[in-house]
Amino acid sequence: MRILSLVLFGFLASAGADGAHHWGYKGEGAPQNWGDISTDFHACKYGKYQSPIDITSTIKATTDNPLAFAYKGEAKDVANNGHSLQVNFKEGSTLKLDGKDFNLVQMHFHTPSEYTFNGKHFPMVAHIVHQTKEGQILVLALMFEEGKENEVIKQIWSSAPKKAGESKALAALDMNALVGKVESYIRLDGSLTTPPCTEGVIWIISQNNAKASKAQIKTFTNIIGVNNRPVQPANGRVVIEAK
Ligand SMILES: [Zn+2]
Repeated sequence: MRILSLVLFGFLASAGADGAHHWGYKGEGAPQNWGDISTDFHACKYGKYQSPIDITSTIKATTDNPLAFAYKGEAKDVANNGHSLQVNFKEGSTLKLDGKDFNLVQMHFHTPSEYTFNGKHFPMVAHIVHQTKEGQILVLALMFEEGKENEVIKQIWSSAPKKAGESKALAALDMNALVGKVESYIRLDGSLTTPPCTEGVIWIISQNNAKASKAQIKTFTNIIGVNNRPVQPANGRVVIEAK
């Protein structure tokens, strides 16, 4: 069965070259059809803890277990994968939570934000993806408000390829400056917001937002387009607001 699904997926992936079966954000490949594109994307349709969701109420909690950042920000490259601009990192940066080290793997962006707050989007979000050695994924979402120009975004955008499938080397990024101090955050369980929509992802949404200029946000949308998955049913999800 596994071999069959791999073969099938291979077929669909190659059929995607003409855009007919490939996932995206509009047309046949739009988010409401992801679960039907491939059996590997089953969770997109039948999962019960999908992301993003609309955040309407939270359970307030104080934590004696703050996030501990040890970011070096050594970037490998920035890739245009057709769905987003993605910065890939070299090993060596970590975020500690629950006594576990999550290694910084990659960071990509969505316009507008995917999680919403009482129905409202932020104009842009960075998803900073981490993984333990055992494969546990943690995504830190950093919301962007419109404001002054962001130096780290400026550095990424200046190297970002405009063509899908291309990548370009990138110097180290000041990830500590980008993320800033996370004094409070929202925590919930969810999934990857792109196929295969795998569940069991820890989501941390910083409540200390970053800023980027209107022109910087527009630059991303001009290259990638609107790339947010719509909100999914919360299904009684526990949403914690930690300080
Ligand atoms: Zn994302």
